[in-house]
Amino acid sequence: MSHTLSSDFLIIGSGIAGLSLALKASEIGTVRVVTKRALSDSATDYAQGGLAAVFAEGDSFDAHVRDTLDAGAGLCDETVVRRVVAEAPERINDLVRWGVRFSVAPPKAAAATAFELGLEGGHSRRRILHVGDYTGHAVEQALVERVRENPRITLHEHHFAVDLITRAHLGQPGPDACAGAYVLDIEQGGVHTFLARATALATGGAGKVYLYTSNPDIATGDGMAMAHRAGARLANLEFVQFHPTCLFHPKAKNFLITEALRGEGAILKNRAGERFVKKADPRGELAPRDIVARAIDEELKRTGEECAFLDITARGADFLRRRFPKIHERCLSYGIDITTQRIPVVPAAHYFCGGVWTDLGGSTTIPRLSALGEVACTGLHGANRLASNSLPEALVFAQAVARRWEDLKSADTPLAAADVPAWNPGQARNPDEQVVIRQVWEEVRRFMWNYVGIARTTKRLERAKSRIAFLQKEIHEYYWDFLLTPDLLELRNIAVVADLVIRCGLARQESRGLHFTADWPRTDPSLAGRATFVEGDRAYLANAPEIASRD
Ligand SMILES: Cc1cc2nc3c(=O)[nH]c(=O)nc-3n(C[C@H](O)[C@H](O)[C@H](O)COP(=O)(O)OP(=O)(O)OC[C@H]3O[C@@H](n4cnc5c(N)ncnc54)[C@H](O)[C@@H]3O)c2cc1C
Repeated sequence: MSHTLSSDFLIIGSGIAGLSLALKASEIGTVRVVTKRALSDSATDYAQGGLAAVFAEGDSFDAHVRDTLDAGAGLCDETVVRRVVAEAPERINDLVRWGVRFSVAPPKAAAATAFELGLEGGHSRRRILHVGDYTGHAVEQALVERVRENPRITLHEHHFAVDLITRAHLGQPGPDACAGAYVLDIEQGGVHTFLARATALATGGAGKVYLYTSNPDIATGDGMAMAHRAGARLANLEFVQFHPTCLFHPKAKNFLITEALRGEGAILKNRAGERFVKKADPRGELAPRDIVARAIDEELKRTGEECAFLDITARGADFLRRRFPKIHERCLSYGIDITTQRIPVVPAAHYFCGGVWTDLGGSTTIPRLSALGEVACTGLHGANRLASNSLPEALVFAQAVARRWEDLKSADTPLAAADVPAWNPGQARNPDEQVVIRQVWEEVRRFMWNYVGIARTTKRLERAKSRIAFLQKEIHEYYWDFLLTPDLLELRNIAVVADLVIRCGLARQESRGLHFTADWPRTDPSLAGRATFVEGDRAYLANAPEIASRD
């Protein structure tokens, strides 16, 4: 059974980006939020470190901007960086209003702010607001409580957005615009038509494209794939951040050991107990993530070991239990006492700096379609994200999108319900070969890890390109023959994102930030400021359009 459901605004995704936008947009009109699992199932819920913002005495917007630009390796859009850095404190105060209780400094610390501020790699000052080491969970819980009590917001859990509905897609004359999305009701069955004046993708990242990832299972790049299929411009997908330190334990699927541990003095050692990161960078353990991840990758390749070790035993048990309660407890459950033992760690795919290209107002190249949070490429992160900048980015862009949506208060929907056909399931039968889906899933994720991982070569990228072309054909055939399931939809989406990462990687013939290729090991100064764009079949490098002037 299929229905048509209308609202002023449609938001796909319920992490920090989707829910903070829902709260802002509810002040303008009615909002529907669709999310493919339970409401709090999101990368946001996993964030440990915190949110970077200038609160400390002696810190400044200029210093935060400088650190962000340094990490971004010549590809950040400075206008966006300045906007996010300057607005972050105000948006964090929104979170405080919505009920987030950030950790406060002990009373004896004479500080300009009551907040306890952490230090993370790449930051020249302490500026990370946190709630213990479960910041994301605390933020997500507060947002979930606020949206649940808001009468203007309707929540649709276990609803999977399949594809965007656009005028172009339906062959309508005139300029393109997004009118909503087709959404699979996972529990009741049926694909429903959601129509709205404006739609936002807040679907998060795509860590599941890789075999090893810190991301939760929802991170399958659905929003990036949907936007690409709808004809939107995407950018900078070769810049995948690998977090240097995921817990290495057969039972720990994706447990991250936060960067904040290194901020508090943790040392990386090999099995023989030798410290090795300083050989790669004089900043040692506090060098940006890509440098630390590559140093570990090289050390593992050199020694043939499976993991490296993080040692924070010097900080003492009382401090560690208070500052890192969750990590302490979780590691103990695997038989590792971080107060007395070294923690085994490996790098894992963590964050997509690239995504759906947006301007300063969060608008994509398809009118009435916005993107925000990890699904988006706003220009903030450039070639490498500075730690703890992504949660504030989502908040700042939620505000920007809501501001844009104010102009649509009395606009019509881009398509009337009568012009939108119901989803056509075609000749689809019940899926009877789930094993095929599992096999292809594993294949994509494994060759992405091996061929398109931390260190790349042109030959390996070419090999990955021909593998993904073959697999996409197979998935396409399967897709039209069988009834939709979340697994099949996610497989189709990770294959699209894998293809885009490979094409962006091949287009960039240099090493910069997170993209390292042994065939072009140096950064080419002539490519500074040139982002990688993908639109349809085209992948090309170009100077980022003057997005500030489009705002
Ligand atoms: C372990 C870990 C630690 C991190 N620590 C930090 C940190 O300390 N500081 C920091 O700034 N950043 C951190 N990050 C990054 C940060 O958490 C994410 O970038 C951010 O939470 C993304 O928020 P989001 O709202 O864009 O996406 P998410 O929080 O991932 O939410 C995406 C939502 O979209 C839904 N969705 C996806 N596809 C569909 C679909 N097809 N249909 C319907 N719904 C869909 C999902 O179910 C989910 O609700 C961390 C990330 C991880 C994984």
